[in-house]
Amino acid sequence: MVLSAFSFILFAGPPDVSLLFGGDLMLNAVPVKAAPLRALAPQAAKHDAFFANLEIPLTDVRTATARKTPKELRERDQYILKADPKHIASLKQAGITAVSLANNHAMDYGWRGLAQQNDALDAAGIPHAGAGKNAAAAARPTTVIAGKHRIALISSLAFMSRTALWKCTPATTKQPGIMVLPFNGTINDDARTKLKSWIGTARKNHDLVVVALHWGIERKAVPSPYQVALGRACIDAGADIVWGHHPHVLQAAEIYEGKPIMYSLGNLVSPTPAQSALISAKLQDGKWSLNVLPTAISGARVKFSASRADYDRRVRLFERAYISKQ
Ligand SMILES: [Zn+2]
Repeated sequence: MVLSAFSFILFAGPPDVSLLFGGDLMLNAVPVKAAPLRALAPQAAKHDAFFANLEIPLTDVRTATARKTPKELRERDQYILKADPKHIASLKQAGITAVSLANNHAMDYGWRGLAQQNDALDAAGIPHAGAGKNAAAAARPTTVIAGKHRIALISSLAFMSRTALWKCTPATTKQPGIMVLPFNGTINDDARTKLKSWIGTARKNHDLVVVALHWGIERKAVPSPYQVALGRACIDAGADIVWGHHPHVLQAAEIYEGKPIMYSLGNLVSPTPAQSALISAKLQDGKWSLNVLPTAISGARVKFSASRADYDRRVRLFERAYISKQ
């Protein structure tokens, strides 16, 4: 009796788990034969799950969205992109176990384009979240089994302007599209209630909730105040991890109320050269820790690199902007 009570205390915490997070898969103009993600596989194998944002639809559908106008495309305000459907093999080669889809390119070739990709993801056994035949389906969590955990992955586009969200085809009660959080940049009581409901639904039948947010301003080294307010509100509403992407560059990560918030992972791969990183999040003895794994992209291939000076500079900028003022 005494022994079993003692054992219970020893093993009362959540089981350990290790999760790998990457940013935007910019696979447009990346040849499949380049094996762009192959170098990530050994690191992925050391983790229980590997999450990435599938930014560009893998499709050969030709009819593009009409919401991004010829004028916007000409002026490079908007881009319509797609990538070779055979890149499903690149995801498998990297050891990617789940992808987020609520981003600004997923619907570039409409639901036909995205459905073609999602069928291929299903056939490859890669769970995906953030897009669906209607708003309820787009909001629904997908389940990722990682070690002893059943993880809920939910995914949303979280731009500040409603017009910018509309361009990316949000799902409605009747129309397919992506999940969006339409808070107009303000986290008020109404927004907090909506977050609690969305995250609370994901919590049912899962013991960890990962919230993927596609947000922020491109090329900014420091997250905007809206990202910080929304990221922390998601943790307050019950999320275990907030995982951000879209700025195409790295932004700092922090542990807030004991839970990780990664503001932007930067590009996971892109046709153009870049410095970036993956983040390894480990839950050990009930405590989360983060480890930054810097990468370099060149020749449309990603490789691990040695220096984390670039990331450390971004952490200092974040701390100056947000921590020293608290
Ligand atoms: Zn994006």
